[in-house]
Amino acid sequence: MRILAAAGDGDPARVYLADLATDGRERLVEFVESIQPPLPREEKWVLMVSTLLGCPVGCPMCDAGGSYHGRLSAAEIIRQIDYLVDSRYPGRSIPAAKFKIQLARLGEPAYNPAVLDVLRELPGRYDAPGLLPSLSTVAPRGCEAFFAELAALKKRLYTGGRFQLQFSIHTTDPTLRDKLIPAPKCDFAWIARYAEEWFTPGDRLITLNFALGADSPVEPSVLLEHFAPERFLIKLTPLNPTYRARSHGLRSYLSHNPAAEDDALPRRLREAGYRVIVSLGQSEEDLIGSNCGQFLQRHLKAREKLTDGYTRPVEHPTADLG
Ligand code: SF4
Repeated sequence: MRILAAAGDGDPARVYLADLATDGRERLVEFVESIQPPLPREEKWVLMVSTLLGCPVGCPMCDAGGSYHGRLSAAEIIRQIDYLVDSRYPGRSIPAAKFKIQLARLGEPAYNPAVLDVLRELPGRYDAPGLLPSLSTVAPRGCEAFFAELAALKKRLYTGGRFQLQFSIHTTDPTLRDKLIPAPKCDFAWIARYAEEWFTPGDRLITLNFALGADSPVEPSVLLEHFAPERFLIKLTPLNPTYRARSHGLRSYLSHNPAAEDDALPRRLREAGYRVIVSLGQSEEDLIGSNCGQFLQRHLKAREKLTDGYTRPVEHPTADLG
């Protein structure tokens, strides 16, 4: 793996751009390590690694989308994790009480069955009592076999709240959801049924994530129709200032402003019975360009190789998944 660029010092975040090529054909990935001040690294250390080369979904707020060049192998995903671990803990003994590995950085993970192999391998690979894999997905249709195996794997290897699952849905308006996540998706009823299959006692609540645009409706009554507060929590995040979000004129509902905690929407969701996390993120991440796909895009733009890549049609790779 060749590191092409890096930014930040790990406090709060350090983002890497790397080429995984072994045969001269470029395979660019982005991965990140971060902490969550004021917690020290020994308390919580978060890694985010790529699972695809780009992403075929093409969400208008995400710089990972719009160009897609295939899946990473399990070894290629693990290589990113190893690099970050070895740079801090060469003995591969990770003391963090919460050692979160997010399979989400570039790419929709459910499109890649190798992600399941990575999840099988992680517990034996590091001495990490705080290991907490986290998978964030838009629930693409055609990946139901992936999700069934994921649930089985979690029950086998990650019981007692040692796995975090997140569905990014962004709005309760189905038409707008189609625009914000322009790929075939499972509907809310499917996600609710999956949660029933998923849950065993001691599990973490499943996160419903909303990267909230200023004009994105979130109706507590629609959520309550499908998502029981005993199984789901709500996470509201700002719409990050990616290149694509700017080019689509998307504005964030939340800003990096602590007052957002008291805003009407979090209050209404709490009144409906949900646990609500308003995750304002680190504005330093915006400054170093560590929002998903942004670092890669900056690199590509600098090389002046990507001028119209965003408009290139891409195929959704669900069909050949077993
Ligand atoms: S937000 Fe996720 S699914 Fe959408 S384009 Fe980015 S990586 Fe893909």
